[in-house]
Amino acid sequence: MVGLVRAAAYSPGADRPGPARAAADEDLFTLAATALERVLPDPVPSGAPIPIDLVGDFDPAFDWAFPVLLGTPVALHREVGGPAGLRRALERAEPAGGPAHLVVLAELPSRRTGPTAVAKAEDGAVAFLLGDGGTAIAGQLPPPAEGTSSGLPEARAVRRALGEAAPSARWIGDWEPGSERQIDVGAPPAETRFAVSEGAYVSRPRYLENLPSRWRFEAEECPFCGTTTFPARGRCRGCGSREGLRSRRLPRDDALVVAATVIGPGGQPTEFDPQVTAQGGYGVVLAELAPGQRVTLQVTDAEPGRVRIGDRVDTRLRRLYATEGEWRYGRKAVPRATESRRGPS
Ligand SMILES: [Zn+2]
Repeated sequence: MVGLVRAAAYSPGADRPGPARAAADEDLFTLAATALERVLPDPVPSGAPIPIDLVGDFDPAFDWAFPVLLGTPVALHREVGGPAGLRRALERAEPAGGPAHLVVLAELPSRRTGPTAVAKAEDGAVAFLLGDGGTAIAGQLPPPAEGTSSGLPEARAVRRALGEAAPSARWIGDWEPGSERQIDVGAPPAETRFAVSEGAYVSRPRYLENLPSRWRFEAEECPFCGTTTFPARGRCRGCGSREGLRSRRLPRDDALVVAATVIGPGGQPTEFDPQVTAQGGYGVVLAELAPGQRVTLQVTDAEPGRVRIGDRVDTRLRRLYATEGEWRYGRKAVPRATESRRGPS
């Protein structure tokens, strides 16, 4: 039976009181990316394009980024945001069938200005994975919500309606905003220095070329000497071979922090000047994704210096900086969420 297989919610700042508010380095795309990464198996089964219904004000100029994010071909379909759009997408996804169909809704009311601004509405995203063996949705959806333009409450109503009836479905992430999240408040960190790249700027062609490694942590395994090369560069760093390299995705969560530092104002690459002007310094960590495979990441969603050596971090796609008229995106480290917050999986 085709139906709901799994659903994930992402509520920014779920550990803080008050309505969920996206951080300065989040936008509609990164909210959706986090929900999609939570709901999908990693790596994503590739093959036929995966249909994705985008519910919300997604910029069509950014369509190219979804297949890059997931590492698989996709077929995008748009729905207007809000409860009605979510409902239409869920109802359409079910009979469409196939091994996987995604519905993702993202909302960012805190960025709206003028008369349409909604003071109390939440920022956030939900993603539904439908496929064979899932729980039927038809006839299970709650009556449409009235008097709201927000789809997130509707998504939670869907969860309540299906939660009991869909024991096979998995509900991942921040379905209950405000649920506990481990906050590590300890002694000030011992500062460790290590080389940070002198400049963050990369040309657009180079940026696009490197996205599989930057966004999905794609590495290459050499069939001749067994070396794993990360970031992938089309050439084995062990023996130099360019033949037969196999793509392998390194884990994007639960990385071990092996070095940590704080970049104070004035120490940042110039691309980060606006960020530092607005928010001050930021943390940077060297994180081990897998034995011997390390990556330097900016820290977000945490005070500078809070993430320390020996901590575990998850990684999320976030805005890095604006250049050449567009935002560049990359993964950043966030303090590792507790299992209770992530829910059963
Ligand atoms: Zn090799």
